[in-house]
Amino acid sequence: MLEKNKIYETQVTDYTAEGQGVAHIEGCAVFIPNAVAGETVRVRIEKAQKTWAAGKIVEILERSPHRMTRKCPVAKLCGGCDFWHMDYEEELRLKAERVRSSLNRIGGESLETMPILGAPTCEDYRNKAQYPVAAKKGRAYAGFFKAGTHEVVENERCLILPPETDRVKDVVMDYVNQFRVSVYDETTGKGLLRHIYVRRGAVSGQILVCLVVNGDRIPKAQALIARLKNIPGFTTLVLGVNTKKGNAILGDQFITLYGEGYIEDTLCGLNFRLSPRSFYQVNHHQAQRLYEAAITQAEITKDDLVLDLYCGVGTITLAMASAAGRVIGVEVIPQAVEDAKDNARRNGIQNAEFFCGDAGKAALELENQGIRPDVIVVDPPRKGLNSDTIEALDRMAPRRIVYVSCDPATLSRDVALLKERGFALKNAQAADLFPRCAHVETVVTLIR
Ligand code: SAH
Repeated sequence: MLEKNKIYETQVTDYTAEGQGVAHIEGCAVFIPNAVAGETVRVRIEKAQKTWAAGKIVEILERSPHRMTRKCPVAKLCGGCDFWHMDYEEELRLKAERVRSSLNRIGGESLETMPILGAPTCEDYRNKAQYPVAAKKGRAYAGFFKAGTHEVVENERCLILPPETDRVKDVVMDYVNQFRVSVYDETTGKGLLRHIYVRRGAVSGQILVCLVVNGDRIPKAQALIARLKNIPGFTTLVLGVNTKKGNAILGDQFITLYGEGYIEDTLCGLNFRLSPRSFYQVNHHQAQRLYEAAITQAEITKDDLVLDLYCGVGTITLAMASAAGRVIGVEVIPQAVEDAKDNARRNGIQNAEFFCGDAGKAALELENQGIRPDVIVVDPPRKGLNSDTIEALDRMAPRRIVYVSCDPATLSRDVALLKERGFALKNAQAADLFPRCAHVETVVTLIR
């Protein structure tokens, strides 16, 4: 076991899934934040267990040529981004490597390389922000949580957000401070404003502002609306009611104070309506490239029946509709299903149907009804597919499964499970939708 507080010299060889550097000292894996692979560093051990330890850099003896001066002044404190201390080339390399090694290690593949779609820019790309709000000494402020805590780090200008989004935050906080709107306190459960949620259409420029409140009204709403109207693109103001304790940001009830309660945007040549609860990829340019890769890999023909599980507002479902005979989308959030149905209508798409329900249960039920899709698309949240979904994929026996994933580890686990049931991995492509952050997306195809 390594000694706590002792300083060791070591070489950083690798990265964790969260983007920390990894070194090995005396057979023990040491996790080192803000380290770049290839660097020789002196680390102070802060936590020591039998097989692993956590350390902090005290000195960099040999710098990686990929190390960069942080462009964001709060990068080290803020829990939002992970990679401002390295160049983008290294970030892409480590992301592709993470996908490749997990498909090999967990998925039983032997891939030698992994292509990755890099983003054209690391800044201004994120079309959704959720700012937690806090108060100190009678002044309210907004920012982002410090990593692993609920302490709010104030950030004047977040580089991955478009400037309009930060302007919304500033306008709301000016209003909060001027009219002494109370701020929610997690420990007592008292106070009104919890989060400022902003969603902006990358193409439309339309802005949805949702104030998440511990209540169902805000004081001086008209004064706030008048000020928000000065921001180009401001389209709608919604109150998101959330009176429950806990980490969930949005509740289930929304009250529209101005506009329609949703915005529109264009993606893959289609027009989409987006409500606050609906999932919509935050990096428009890269999402489009990811979906294009998924559509290409699906190799759909005019007679095909396509089933899209975890379909959100129907982005992939509708983008595939024109190539297919018929498409069916399944999604668990009712508001997203409403959006998906409306999105089919507004684009004049008549061969798409949407169902609300759990992907696995719905797929098993469709299978019972004799539905046999030619192509099945799955795009689950981080926890991946559940056993019902795997079972339904097996029974439906589609020609192709296109799996869009936001977590290489659960993707690889599911690939291994599907291989046991007679599918084989055909294509794998990583895509960077979250520059400067540790998440990475992957699209793979499995064939029967
Ligand atoms: N394919 C869409 C959405 C992907 S995100 C797009 O690219 O825009 C994953 C979606 O799965 C979310 O919309 C989420 O609400 C939904 N979801 C989560 N758990 C689910 C479940 N058990 N069954 C069906 N959908 C689920």
